[in-house]
Amino acid sequence: MTLGSGGTAADFDLVLRHGRVVDGTGNPAFFADVAVKDGRIAVVGRVEGRSKAELDLRGLVIAPGFIDVHTHVDELAEQPLAENFIRMGVTTVVTGNCGESAPDVDRFFADIERTGATINTATLVGHGTVRGRVMGGSFDREPTADELARMKSEVDQAMRDGAIGMSTGLIYPPGSFARTPEIVELARVVAAHDGLYASHMRNEGREIFPALDEVFRVAREAGLPAEVSHIKLSGPASWGQADAVIEAIEQATIRDAATYNDPHHYREGIPLVLVNGVPVVEDGQVAGARPRRPLRHRRVR
Ligand SMILES: [Zn+2]
Repeated sequence: MTLGSGGTAADFDLVLRHGRVVDGTGNPAFFADVAVKDGRIAVVGRVEGRSKAELDLRGLVIAPGFIDVHTHVDELAEQPLAENFIRMGVTTVVTGNCGESAPDVDRFFADIERTGATINTATLVGHGTVRGRVMGGSFDREPTADELARMKSEVDQAMRDGAIGMSTGLIYPPGSFARTPEIVELARVVAAHDGLYASHMRNEGREIFPALDEVFRVAREAGLPAEVSHIKLSGPASWGQADAVIEAIEQATIRDAATYNDPHHYREGIPLVLVNGVPVVEDGQVAGARPRRPLRHRRVR
């Protein structure tokens, strides 16, 4: 780092020089300088002028902060520095996955704001969390009409408090006892707020295809985008089917215009291609990928 000459007004606070910019649009990388002023990117390109500080990034990549869509940092307020994310370049996290979230979304954000967490945070509302609270200790059954109404109202409140969608964890109690129509009913509430549905599916091994069909059904019947959480083929008996799984998701994406997946990148799972958006059909042709409905992060800190 070289400091600019003292005493003279600087044009920028920081200039990153000689790096390769990967800007997140999907376009190829390009060489450019990036200038920062008042906490914002001021120039991308050839940067002239003085800067309070400069970094030489020869051989390195300059990229926007990464978004980690699958975390379980529901106690983020207890680790506000979130150094494990920041050091990996992750500047935005989505938590509340696999059916489990902070019980009170409003409080969750209030705690983060009070402790001043360093990363941007969005949360899903956990279906299991809501189901557990409303149905008490008895889960191996369908909810009564009254319980379902209360669950819907809790999901509605969580969405109003800033959740971006609902997650399920259908291998974990109490979510594992929920039948599909219950999930569809709750997902409709989420859809009314333009939220999304993320599922740790009912099965990730031998029965993965019926489990995928359940995700597709929720997306279709509730009318909202769905995401297959940490997709993988779990257990040797199911290995070797990655192509068929991808094909099923791609077909559903084209048919329902509503499916995403996020992959597990470790040995237990089989990494799959990340589908960032959904194909958009124009004039009978798949015209490209873009999110069906841009996520409104109504409350992101
Ligand atoms: Zn999970």
